Parts: sequence; C-alpha cells; structure tokens
Amino acid sequence: MTLPRFDVLVPETVEQACSLLAEHGGGARVLAGGTDLLVDLKRPIVQERLIEAGGGDPGRFTTLGDGEPGAIDPWGSGDPPPDVLISLHKLAGLKRIEVLDDGRLRVGALATAREIQRVPEIRDRWTALAEGADSLGSPLVRARGTIGGNICNARPAADITVPAICLGAQLELQSPDGSRTLPGEQFILAPGVTVIEPAEILTAVTFPALSARTGSAYYKLGQRKALEISVVGVAVYVELAGDDTVQAACVTLGAVGPTPLAARSAAEVLAGGKPTGELLARAARAAAADATPIDDHRGTAEYRRLMVEMLTRRTLELAVERAGGRS
Ligand SMILES: Cc1cc2nc3c(=O)[nH]c(=O)nc-3n(C[C@H](O)[C@H](O)[C@H](O)COP(=O)(O)OP(=O)(O)OC[C@H]3O[C@@H](n4cnc5c(N)ncnc54)[C@H](O)[C@@H]3O)c2cc1C
Repeated sequence: MTLPRFDVLVPETVEQACSLLAEHGGGARVLAGGTDLLVDLKRPIVQERLIEAGGGDPGRFTTLGDGEPGAIDPWGSGDPPPDVLISLHKLAGLKRIEVLDDGRLRVGALATAREIQRVPEIRDRWTALAEGADSLGSPLVRARGTIGGNICNARPAADITVPAICLGAQLELQSPDGSRTLPGEQFILAPGVTVIEPAEILTAVTFPALSARTGSAYYKLGQRKALEISVVGVAVYVELAGDDTVQAACVTLGAVGPTPLAARSAAEVLAGGKPTGELLARAARAAAADATPIDDHRGTAEYRRLMVEMLTRRTLELAVERAGGRS
C-alpha cells in the first residue's frame, strides 16, 4: 500500500526540531520509530479506496483503525495528513537511558521498547515498565517503536504508557519557548489527543526513585500472544512499610476507558492495609468497578470488567511478592 508524498527533515538538535515544527505548523509531525505514524499516514488512502469500493458509505469503515472513536481520522478535525515529517533519529541524546544519582530513572523519548527491555535495572526495579516493553507488538516492532511514540500516540491500550503512568512517569517537554515537566497521568485527554503543543517535543520520561520494598507488574491480555492490541492491560505498583502494610499503591488500567485509567478506588482499598488475599481481592473488585469498558470486536464490556478483576488480583499478588511481602 502506497504512502502519500511527504518531505522528511532531519534536525541535528532538539532546538532545531522544535523550530522546524513551529515553522511548518499543523502540516508537520514528529517522526520517531514510525510504527504508528506511517500506518496512520496510509489510512486516509486505504479509507478512500474502501469507500470507493463500498459505494461511498464511510460509516462502514469506522473500525478500520483500532476500533476507537476517531480512528477514521487520525489527524483529527478533518485536517489533511502532514506533508512534512521531522525525524528525530539524529538526536542521540534522546536515546539515553540512565539511573540518575538521586535514584530516579530517566528514559530518553527515543529509547525503543527493545532497549528498555534490555536494561537490567529497569527489569529489577521498574519491572512493570520492562513488562510493558516485552508485550509491545513483535520483535520487529519493539526494535523501532519508542517510548515517546507510544505515549504521544495516546492510545488507551498503549503497552508502555499504561505501566509508565502507574510508575509515576513525569514527562519532559521542550518547545521554542522553553521546557516544562508534566505528570504522565495529565498528558492524555482522549484517544489520540494529548496536551502537547504544536511545536513541542517529548524529550524524556523520568520515574521516581524506588525504595527496596516496592514491586510492580504489568499484564496484557490479548486474543493472541503477539501483534495484538490488548483487550485489557493492568499495571500495578505497591510499596510496603516495615510492618508489611501497604504504604503506597497504584493500579492503572489499559483498554477499558478512553485513556489509560487510574483505578483510584483500588488504591484507596489497599492504602494502609495488610496485603492479604482478601484485601487484594477487594482491591481487584474496586478496580473492576472503576473501569469504563465498551463492547467491541475484541471483547464485551462484561468480559473486560471480569478480566480487570482477575488480572488486578494476579498482578497485585506478583507485585507484593516482588516487594518482599506475602499475599
Ligand atoms: C504491527 C504493529 C504492532 C503493534 N503492536 C503494539 C502493541 O502490542 N502495543 C502497543 O502499545 N503498540 C503497538 N503498536 C503501535 C506502536 O508500535 C507503538 O505505539 C510505538 O511505541 C510507537 O512508537 P514510534 O516510535 O514508532 O512512534 P511514531 O509512529 O514515530 O509516532 C507516533 C506518534 O507520536 C508522535 N511522536 C513520536 N515521538 C514523539 C516525541 N518524542 N515528541 C512528540 N511527538 C512524538 C508522532 O508525531 C506520532 O503522532 C504496534 C504497531 C504496529 C505497526
């Protein structure tokens, strides 16, 4: 399937990249690994042809993308697709992954899923993030798909974004006007819609330092084991106090709402309690009640809610075990 015509500009600094975005306005898009963007660029052409072949009824094709509202128009508001792509591939600094002196983890926006998978400190300590990277697409997609692209594409099922938000990700954004940092949970407003400004680039994602008694986990439920958008994704984070009670907890759900969803009632159930099987089961029921799933071709709302309950309990058990506690 052919792509539309576009120019690719290759800036050598983040500042240049932001200036180019500002110069080209809505006609330009950032290109990272291209695994979402290039597919989106083909969509209007595919849809045009399907509409021609199907007698001009665009309504028939609204689930052509990934079944989310707005999938038929990846550019939103009926704008034409971009004719300029600003490639970030020469910005080596955006690839860096490092544990900072103060114990925080900083992952450059251009780090791929495969690079994240391979960092032992991430697997040992920010485990849910490594497990999110493990479950993205296939080896080929993981070799190109970046954390920045996964977050900026703003899909409710995004497998790196859901655990990143659960682990308290802070997003570093740069524009010609300067830089700002935003909590990950405030970034996505709706499927495909974020608070990013037109000339802004996500440069890095920073995660808080973790004490020894923390554990996290991510589980993706799909209809297949690879190359599958999740039916439900559950990320959990647990921090235990010296007396084994839950000091802090977070449960973030994917694919059961228009954006990655914080299951706040589940976190409230867990706070201050002993992580017994009974408490974790109660938290899992609360997470299922917090979910706002829909029926689509991947599963019914009822099935998704059941799976949220089951997977939240399982991932919590795993996270508590990883934190050195017993459920
Ligand atoms: C076959 C296939 C299977 C897939 N499977 C999965 C899956 O299982 N789970 C999953 O979550 N995703 C999946 N995806 C989607 C995709 O691979 C991921 O979302 C990936 O992380 C996107 O990263 P990218 O670098 O390729 O982004 P790109 O396609 O380059 O960009 C995506 C969007 O983000 C913007 N963008 C990218 N980087 C930045 C930045 N630094 N600053 C500002 N804007 C930016 C782009 O302009 C574009 O709008 C799949 C895709 C394919 C083609």
